[in-house]
Amino acid sequence: MEPKKMDTKKIESGFRLVMEGLGLDLSDPHMADSPQRVAKAWTEELCRGLKEPELRMRTFPLMAGYDPSMVVLQDIPVKSLCAHHLLPFVGKATVAYIPQKKLCGLSKLSRIVDHFSRKPQVQENLTHEIARFLQDNLDPLGIGVIVKASHFCMELRGVNHKGVMTTSTLMGVFLTDPTVRAEFMALAQAE
Ligand SMILES: [Zn+2]
Repeated sequence: MEPKKMDTKKIESGFRLVMEGLGLDLSDPHMADSPQRVAKAWTEELCRGLKEPELRMRTFPLMAGYDPSMVVLQDIPVKSLCAHHLLPFVGKATVAYIPQKKLCGLSKLSRIVDHFSRKPQVQENLTHEIARFLQDNLDPLGIGVIVKASHFCMELRGVNHKGVMTTSTLMGVFLTDPTVRAEFMALAQAE
């Protein structure tokens, strides 16, 4: 996706309107600068994935004769926004792949998760987008991505039910080989 140009002034005036609509006193010293502060948080943190340049992934060749086994990174922080309510959903991701010819640095896996997290979306798409990016860049034997996150839109609204949602995307041998699939699911649930 092309990086987006953001109009910070427009975002500021939008948040000012929200505050006025709520009948808040914008002369209160705690709130006077809130529209600017909030706009900054939205553009620089919450939605920064929208304006970041397209991710490039450096890969390393898999050693010849190496018997490919699963590479797993757990507990990757997920901080995102639900597209329906623009409220946060936060949690953890587990990302795994079985290399075919290429490897990537482990830290790159958390970088990928962070990049795709930082924008409004539905969690199902986030899980899929991470898996698709790895598929395109690593061409591995298989990929598994699990995201487990609490949705504030569920926790704060209505029944105040604990809104933890789990989504997963499996590709390649993670889908077709029951042993690989079971190993991955056991790891992902072990947290
Ligand atoms: Zn929501």
